[in-house]
Amino acid sequence: MPIRQLPPDLVNRIAAGEVVERPASVVKELVENAIDAGATKVAITTAGGGKALIRIEDDGAGMDRDDLILSVERHATSKLEDDGLDDIRTLGFRGEALASIGSVAALGIATRTADAPSGLKLSVERGVKSGPVPQAMNRGTIVEVRDLFAALPARLKFLKSDRAEAAAITDVVKRLAMANPEVHFVLTGTDRSTHNWPAQPRDGGGLATRLAQVMGEDFAANAVPLAMARHGVVVAGLAGLPTFSRANSLSQYYFVNGRSVRDKVLLGAVRAAYADFTFRDRFPAIALYLAIDPAEVDVNVHPAKAELRFRDAGAVRSAVIRAITAALDAAGYRASSTVAGAVMDAVRVPEPAMAEFSEPVVERYLPPASHPAAAIPGLSEPSARIERDDPAPQAFQEFPLGAARAQLFENFIVAQNGDSLVLIDQHAAHERLVYERFKAEMAAGPVPSQALLIPAVIDLPEEDCARLEEAAPALEKLGLGIERFGPRAVAVRETPALLGQADIDGLVHDIADGLAEWDSSSAVADRLEAIIGRMACHGSVRSGRRLRPDEMNALLRQMESTPHSGQCIHGRPTYVELKLKDIERLFGRTR
Ligand code: ADP
Ligand code: MG
Repeated sequence: MPIRQLPPDLVNRIAAGEVVERPASVVKELVENAIDAGATKVAITTAGGGKALIRIEDDGAGMDRDDLILSVERHATSKLEDDGLDDIRTLGFRGEALASIGSVAALGIATRTADAPSGLKLSVERGVKSGPVPQAMNRGTIVEVRDLFAALPARLKFLKSDRAEAAAITDVVKRLAMANPEVHFVLTGTDRSTHNWPAQPRDGGGLATRLAQVMGEDFAANAVPLAMARHGVVVAGLAGLPTFSRANSLSQYYFVNGRSVRDKVLLGAVRAAYADFTFRDRFPAIALYLAIDPAEVDVNVHPAKAELRFRDAGAVRSAVIRAITAALDAAGYRASSTVAGAVMDAVRVPEPAMAEFSEPVVERYLPPASHPAAAIPGLSEPSARIERDDPAPQAFQEFPLGAARAQLFENFIVAQNGDSLVLIDQHAAHERLVYERFKAEMAAGPVPSQALLIPAVIDLPEEDCARLEEAAPALEKLGLGIERFGPRAVAVRETPALLGQADIDGLVHDIADGLAEWDSSSAVADRLEAIIGRMACHGSVRSGRRLRPDEMNALLRQMESTPHSGQCIHGRPTYVELKLKDIERLFGRTR
C-alpha cells in the first residue's frame, strides 16, 4: 500500500483514544480548562454515567470569536508561549482535548468574555463544525458533551456500567476539588447524589476545610498537618494518624504543583514514612501536596498527565518522609478518635437493662503481695522507675494518660485522667516503647548487650542457620551475638540488654522466619527496623503478666514521653480513651 497522509478527522479520533479514554477523562480535561480560564466556580452535571451528557459551566475568562473557532482545532492552545515544555504552569497545554472530544461526541461550546456584548455558541458533531451562533449567557464558558462514543461501538463496549463511570467522574472531580480549594465545585446529575463544595481560602485552614468537605470530617479530625520545605521541595497537606488506616490505597491522594498524580516515588515515600506504624497490608489515609520548581518535574510522560517524573527523586522522597515523620512525631501518643467511637459502638447495654452481674469482672486493684514482681524488661532503668512513695497516684490524674487504677485480664490497664477513662493494652504499648528505645540506642551506636552465662543453643533447619550466619554481623550491631553451632544449630552468646529476660528461642526463630521471607529481596541492613520490630515484640511485657501499680504508672509516663506510642508497631492502637460524658451517656445519664 502506498503511504498516505491521514485525514485530520481520523488523526483526531486516534488522538481521542489517548486523551479521551472514558467519560471521567472528558470531565477532567474540561474542568482543567475551566480552572486554566480562571474560574472561581465550576458546575458539573452528568447523566448516564457521563455517556449521555457531560455539562461543565464555569465563570472564567471565556473566549472571543476567533479563539472559540480555533479552540476545537487540533494542537491549538493558548497556553504555550514559546515552544518550551520545561516550564508548564497551566493544567492544559497540548491543545488536543476539545478537538478530540469533538471527534467522538456531539460537542457544544458556548462562551462569553467580559467585554463581549453577548455569548457565542459553536457546535462540533463528530468532527463537523457549525456556528458560531449568538447565545444569551453570562461571562464564562459552558461546554456540553452528548452521546460520547455513540458512533464508536467498540469504544463504548469498553466502558463500565453507568454507575461505575459516574463514580469515576466523582473521583476525578474530588481530586480537582482537592487540588483547587479556592474554586467552588458543584457536582450534580440524574446519575448521582449532589456534592456542593463552596470555595475556601488558599491559606488559613482553607485547605483543611476543603479536605474535610471531600474526604470527610472523620479524616480531617484524625489527621495531622504537614509543613516542610527541604531541598527545594515544599510538602503540605494532611497525614492521617496511623490508627486511621485503610485496607487499600483509595484514601491516598497525591498532588504535585496543583495536579493530581500517581507516582511510585511518592507512594514509596509514604509507605516508608509509615513503615514503623502500620502493617504492610494497611494504607494510611493522606492528602499530600508537593510544590516544586516546574523545571524539576517532567509532566509530559503520560497523555492524561497523571504520571510524572522527578528529576531528583531522592530529594523528593526524603522531603516527604521527613514531613510525615515530623508531623507524626508532633502528634506524639495521639490515637485516632474513631478508636474510641468504635468502642462506644461495641458497648451494648444488656437486655433487660438490669441484667444481674454474676461475677465481678474487674480484678482486685492490687495483685497479691506474694506475687513475684520481677523487674519489667525495659522498665527497670532508674529514670523509668516511679518510687512507691513518690507522687501520690492522684497527681498522675493530671497526666494525659492519667493514673493507673487497675489491671484487667492481666493485660489491660485501667487509668483515669481528669475527665476520661483510659484503657491501655500493656503488651502493645510496651512493644512500642521497646521499639523506640531500640531505635534510639541503635542511632547512638552499637546496641548495648548482655552476655549470657551459658550460650543458648537453638536448633534450626540448615537454611535458617545459613541465613542467620550471614546476617550475624548486622545482628551483632543490634546487640544479638549469634554464631553457627554445627550444621543445624546456632549459639546465642549475647542478647540486647534492653530485652531483659527475652524468650531467646522464640526470638531467634522469628528472626530466621523474617530472613527467609525477605530472602534476596533486600539486604539485611535494609531490614533492621523489621528485625527490631520482631525483637521488640519478644522483649515486651506479655499479656498475662501482672503489673504493680508503680509499674503500670511507669509504663503510662513512658508512653507519654515516647513518640508514636499511640500505636503499636503493627499500627493497632495501644490505648483508647472514653470521656466521662460518653460513659454517662452509656448509662443514659445526660447532664
Ligand atoms: P489545552 O487546554 O491543552 O490548551 P484544549 O483543547 O483543552 O487544549 O483547549 C484549547 C483552548 O481552548 C485552550 O488553550 C483555551 O484557550 C481554550 N479554552 C478551552 N476551554 C476553555 C474554557 N472553559 N474557558 C476559556 N477558554 C477555554
Ligand atoms: Mg485543556
